Amino acid sequence: MVQIARERIDILMREADLAAIAGRMEHADRYVDLARRVGMRYNVRVPTAFRRRFCRGCYRYLQPGVTSRTRLSRGRVVTTCLRCGHMSRIPLGQRAMPGEDPSPAAATEPTDEE
Ligand SMILES: [Zn+2]
Repeated sequence: MVQIARERIDILMREADLAAIAGRMEHADRYVDLARRVGMRYNVRVPTAFRRRFCRGCYRYLQPGVTSRTRLSRGRVVTTCLRCGHMSRIPLGQRAMPGEDPSPAAATEPTDEE
């Protein structure tokens, strides 16, 4: 079930990206919402790379230059949500690779090789 949940999150986030590119932001927001729900239901984390694509304040899709502003400040990437004003600060050099999660919570999850 966990593996299926991961795949579904992956698919939903890709759909969110496609919807955002097409300018259908309300669809992108919906896909983000669904991906988060799948993650919560099956206790699966949304991968780091995907988590940076939605706002931690209002959980809506962040489209750089459209619904979010990206600035560099004191060695950090500051992403501001233009819809709720929430800011996230990520230190420079911390790369988000799909499938790679440096947080300790990820280590407790069973890892399934693909
Ligand atoms: Zn927001």
